[in-house]
Amino acid sequence: MKFPIYLDNHSTTPVDPEVMDAMLPYFTEKFGNAASKNHVFGWEAESAVEHARKQIADIIGAESSEIYFTSGATESINLAHFGIAQSYSNKGKRIITSATEHSAVLDSLRYLEKNGFEIIYLPVDQSGRIDFNQLSDSINQNTILVSIMTANNEIGTINNVTEISKICADKNVFFHTDAAQALGKIEFDVKKIKPALASFSAHKLYGPKGIGAIYIRKDEPPIRLTPLLLGGGHEKNIRSGTLNVPGIVGFGKAVEICSKIFKDESHRISRLRDKLYNSLISFLDNVHLNGKIENRLPGNLNISFEGVTAESLIMEMRELAVSTGAACTTASLKPSHVLKAIGVPDNLAKSSIRFGIGRFNSEEEIDYAIKKIIESVTKLRSLSPSWTLREEHNFN
Ligand SMILES: *Cc1c(COP(=O)(O)O)cnc(C)c1O
Repeated sequence: MKFPIYLDNHSTTPVDPEVMDAMLPYFTEKFGNAASKNHVFGWEAESAVEHARKQIADIIGAESSEIYFTSGATESINLAHFGIAQSYSNKGKRIITSATEHSAVLDSLRYLEKNGFEIIYLPVDQSGRIDFNQLSDSINQNTILVSIMTANNEIGTINNVTEISKICADKNVFFHTDAAQALGKIEFDVKKIKPALASFSAHKLYGPKGIGAIYIRKDEPPIRLTPLLLGGGHEKNIRSGTLNVPGIVGFGKAVEICSKIFKDESHRISRLRDKLYNSLISFLDNVHLNGKIENRLPGNLNISFEGVTAESLIMEMRELAVSTGAACTTASLKPSHVLKAIGVPDNLAKSSIRFGIGRFNSEEEIDYAIKKIIESVTKLRSLSPSWTLREEHNFN
């Protein structure tokens, strides 16, 4: 075993060696600009890009012409929100989202809110899911967009986006979904879900960082998205800028691998996750699962260890690379907005650890992690006078 053991696969994943092999030639001998139309270097790059576009379209049941490359899910989400807001503000200024979205969704909508848009943040239940009636009731004449994630990056909740999309379609409102955590991990089929827009990122599925895509449904009349970046008119004027050819090739390969193995992989990973969870609850008292085990991403476990702070626990188990929540919000010491939204009290939120099991974790590593977590929690609790007192009190 190599230490530390990486158990933070929701933050990012290592590039699969097969993905790396596919990318390498596009840095050196096949370095062409996909927009160069006059020579073989350009043609070669362009055909590699179109091959990757097809690989991504295939896994989600889309047409190639509905896939546009961006720098990642953050950019795709910003493009969806600002693009719709700018193009359709004459129709209305209400946008609906949920309280547990990624900061890329919440922060871009917060910006629109400051600039005259009305943003509705729907609450969620203990499992992290919105209420469909509440969604339906909050859609009014002025609503131009609903943006709800497919799978949550902190507590792994998988939303019923097919139902959400249906509600939006009935009310004639565009539906965007942040599917960064879903693609390659669970089934995501646009023929079934029918979103107007969806955002993806390669580095969450064993592809490289800095490359992603947005799905824009081919509609009649076409969905109008005002671009964020202007320039050479790449990606049919939706996203100017020289294409990241090696990144795109890697993204395509990563998706292709997932489409081949994701059923077996999610089975294996959810078994490891369940082993971790069941061992922790059988050996430790007062541990709480955040969210529900049903409708959860296979590799996700988010647990509050009563009586210890997440920071001290992470320091105690240096052999494990885990996180207190979203990588992007850990810089601030505020308790997670997701845990708050599902009703976890602040003291328990500050005792929460997110485990993210991925493709390259072995059973041996999970067994080691189980031992280490139990030892560390037991040790920290025994050192805490208030916890020891409390335990004695419970016995009386
Ligand atoms: C990682 C992530 C993002 C951001 O993706 P980047 O490609 O890193 O910009 C957005 N939403 C969710 C749910 C994520 O997990």
